Amino acid sequence: MANPSILILPGDGIGPEVMAEVKKIISWYGDKRELAFDVSEDLVGGAAYDVHGVPLADETMAKAQEVDAVLLGAVGGPKYDVLDFSVKPERGLLRLRKEMDLFANLRPAQCFDALADFSSLKKDVVAGLDIMIVRELTSGVYFGTPRGIFEENGERYGVNTQRYTESEIERVARSAFELAKRRGNKVCSMEKANVMESGILWREVVQRVHDEEYPEVELSHMYADNGAMQLVRWPKQFDVIVTDNLFGDILSDCAAMLTGSLGMLPSASLGAPMENGRPKAMYEPVHGSAPDIAGQGKANPIACILSFAMALRYSFDQGDEATRLEQAIEKVLADGVRTADLMGPEGGTPVSTAEMGDKIIAA
Ligand code: ATP
Ligand code: MG
Repeated sequence: MANPSILILPGDGIGPEVMAEVKKIISWYGDKRELAFDVSEDLVGGAAYDVHGVPLADETMAKAQEVDAVLLGAVGGPKYDVLDFSVKPERGLLRLRKEMDLFANLRPAQCFDALADFSSLKKDVVAGLDIMIVRELTSGVYFGTPRGIFEENGERYGVNTQRYTESEIERVARSAFELAKRRGNKVCSMEKANVMESGILWREVVQRVHDEEYPEVELSHMYADNGAMQLVRWPKQFDVIVTDNLFGDILSDCAAMLTGSLGMLPSASLGAPMENGRPKAMYEPVHGSAPDIAGQGKANPIACILSFAMALRYSFDQGDEATRLEQAIEKVLADGVRTADLMGPEGGTPVSTAEMGDKIIAA
């Protein structure tokens, strides 16, 4: 059988620096675990613009459609701020998401014990936290029409439209139930069915997908405002949360801050299942290109490494290896190894990006 394939797109700023550590880990799997990947690498963002004059070349887009998973570092930087919107680095990322039709955005909020003091909440509320927010990414109020600023009776008014079709809700619900089966077997769906028609349909369709296809998964429904409150009150009550584009934007940022540094947060964007049954997928850290620290070896590679762990779990059927990789990170943190972003006011000596990667491999 052919090796699973990965397209690596390191991108700009700290993207290549954090991705270098993932590449070391991928080599380690080939050498030590007989888990070999067919890895190719290409340009995205400003790096692609510098060479091709566009933030994502057509050939790169075609490759992304063929591989089992795309790993992306970060795009953008001050050098590219002056560019026309049509060729901005971020457009490369948007093109990947759109053409691969990555409709489910997964953001885990996982709190490593060693970092529980970093949370804005009390330690016992977040220690051991491991939840997953699934945000619908390609529809809803971000795309619905009519939209615009109009005028009536001499006064302007702004309009956005929240619109969801049944099939859009069905597919993201399925992603959430599939994830839940590999995790805590529990889904909480959030909307505002008390005030929104789209929320009424959302609740009905999620319940139907559950009853017909995933009756073994525990399903609950919650109004999104209550959900926000519950997330900061007692987040460990949740396993998988599935919600629409707008509520997901807000709830996932809220959940992210339960866990501490931006340098720790991975993400995955999933599309429809491919022939092998696994979804089309792109994995990337939540953080950006961090121009303020780029080129200095200071970046925390853990978000990018955890994104690769998600790839192991969701694209390569290597859930046990993913867990071991996460445990290695946990151990290194418990040993007190810290990049600069993980240092509290008491200070200490931070390790470099490469040293953090090496410690994780050693663990
Ligand atoms: P984008 O718009 O691309 O999401 P952003 O404006 O949100 O970017 P980031 O590039 O994510 O910003 O950086 C925000 C801050 O977090 C910066 O001070 C940056 O140095 C820091 N930061 C981001 N990622 C990391 C990391 N992996 N390790 C250490 N610090 C980081
Ligand atoms: Mg940002």
